[in-house]
Amino acid sequence: MSEFRADLHTHSTFSDGSDTPEQLILLAQKIGLKGLSITDHDTLAAYQESAILEKQQSLLLLPGVEFSAMSREEPVHILAYAFSLQGKSLLALCQHHKKRREERNIKMIERLRGLGIDMALNDIQTTSKGTWGRPHIADVLLKKGYVQSIQQAFELYLAEGKPAYVQGEVISVEETLKAIYESHGKAILAHPHLIKRSTTIRTLLKMPFSGIECYYARLPAAQEKKWLDLARQREWLITGGSDYHGTTKPFSALGSSWISEETFLYLYEHFLKVN
Ligand code: AMP
Ligand code: ZN
Ligand code: FE
Ligand code: FE
Repeated sequence: MSEFRADLHTHSTFSDGSDTPEQLILLAQKIGLKGLSITDHDTLAAYQESAILEKQQSLLLLPGVEFSAMSREEPVHILAYAFSLQGKSLLALCQHHKKRREERNIKMIERLRGLGIDMALNDIQTTSKGTWGRPHIADVLLKKGYVQSIQQAFELYLAEGKPAYVQGEVISVEETLKAIYESHGKAILAHPHLIKRSTTIRTLLKMPFSGIECYYARLPAAQEKKWLDLARQREWLITGGSDYHGTTKPFSALGSSWISEETFLYLYEHFLKVN
């Protein structure tokens, strides 16, 4: 029997990935994954607006979402899995993010227009079916020829501290965890190695997470160990995934990180129980 592999961190056209949920599932099946979660940024639209949950697949699909939050003025991503799809708090949090992103996108586009760049909100809204953000603005800058690459769009305009960057409304880690747990989900600290300040990490590790994303894309094994030890000490879940975005981030291949059958089935059974 072949090894059970489940990739629990991927993005579709409902946020900033280039594959539709259906394409993502086909690719996952083709490369032999047995489990998958599509974790779009701040939205469940892939699960609400496509028929992927109704269709019988040769892999198990675990609903998930990747929330943006702030801790001590530092951006933090929180993955949620195995929640109730009807969970009111979780759906309300997605709505809150939609409003936050709309207001923020308008402000960032105003900044760009102030810099002489011809762009309107309509331009970015055609690039995703769910949430829009800086990657979509970067894509429009690239297509309109203002920059040579997505990376350059961030370096020149969109990265923190650059002229078109807007922080926008802050949604806290506490508020995010509350919404996930009220909807019976599991909350996982995503890619902790990307958090810059050790004080932020220390604060987060005191919070009631259910797990840590220890396996991530091309993270070297030596770096994984630190997070594996911290999760084991706390008896937290150990999750992982590729953060696949398709052509948007071509350096991260689907299935480049995965989790064990035991953890996947624990989450999947919890999902079945609460839905
Ligand atoms: P947003 O949620 O709108 O603030 O956009 C954040 C997303 O932008 C992240 O999840 C990354 O995928 C992407 N991003 C952030 N910084 C960069 C960068 N320097 N180059 C390319 N993509 C980036
Ligand atoms: Zn993304
Ligand atoms: Fe992330
Ligand atoms: Fe991600």
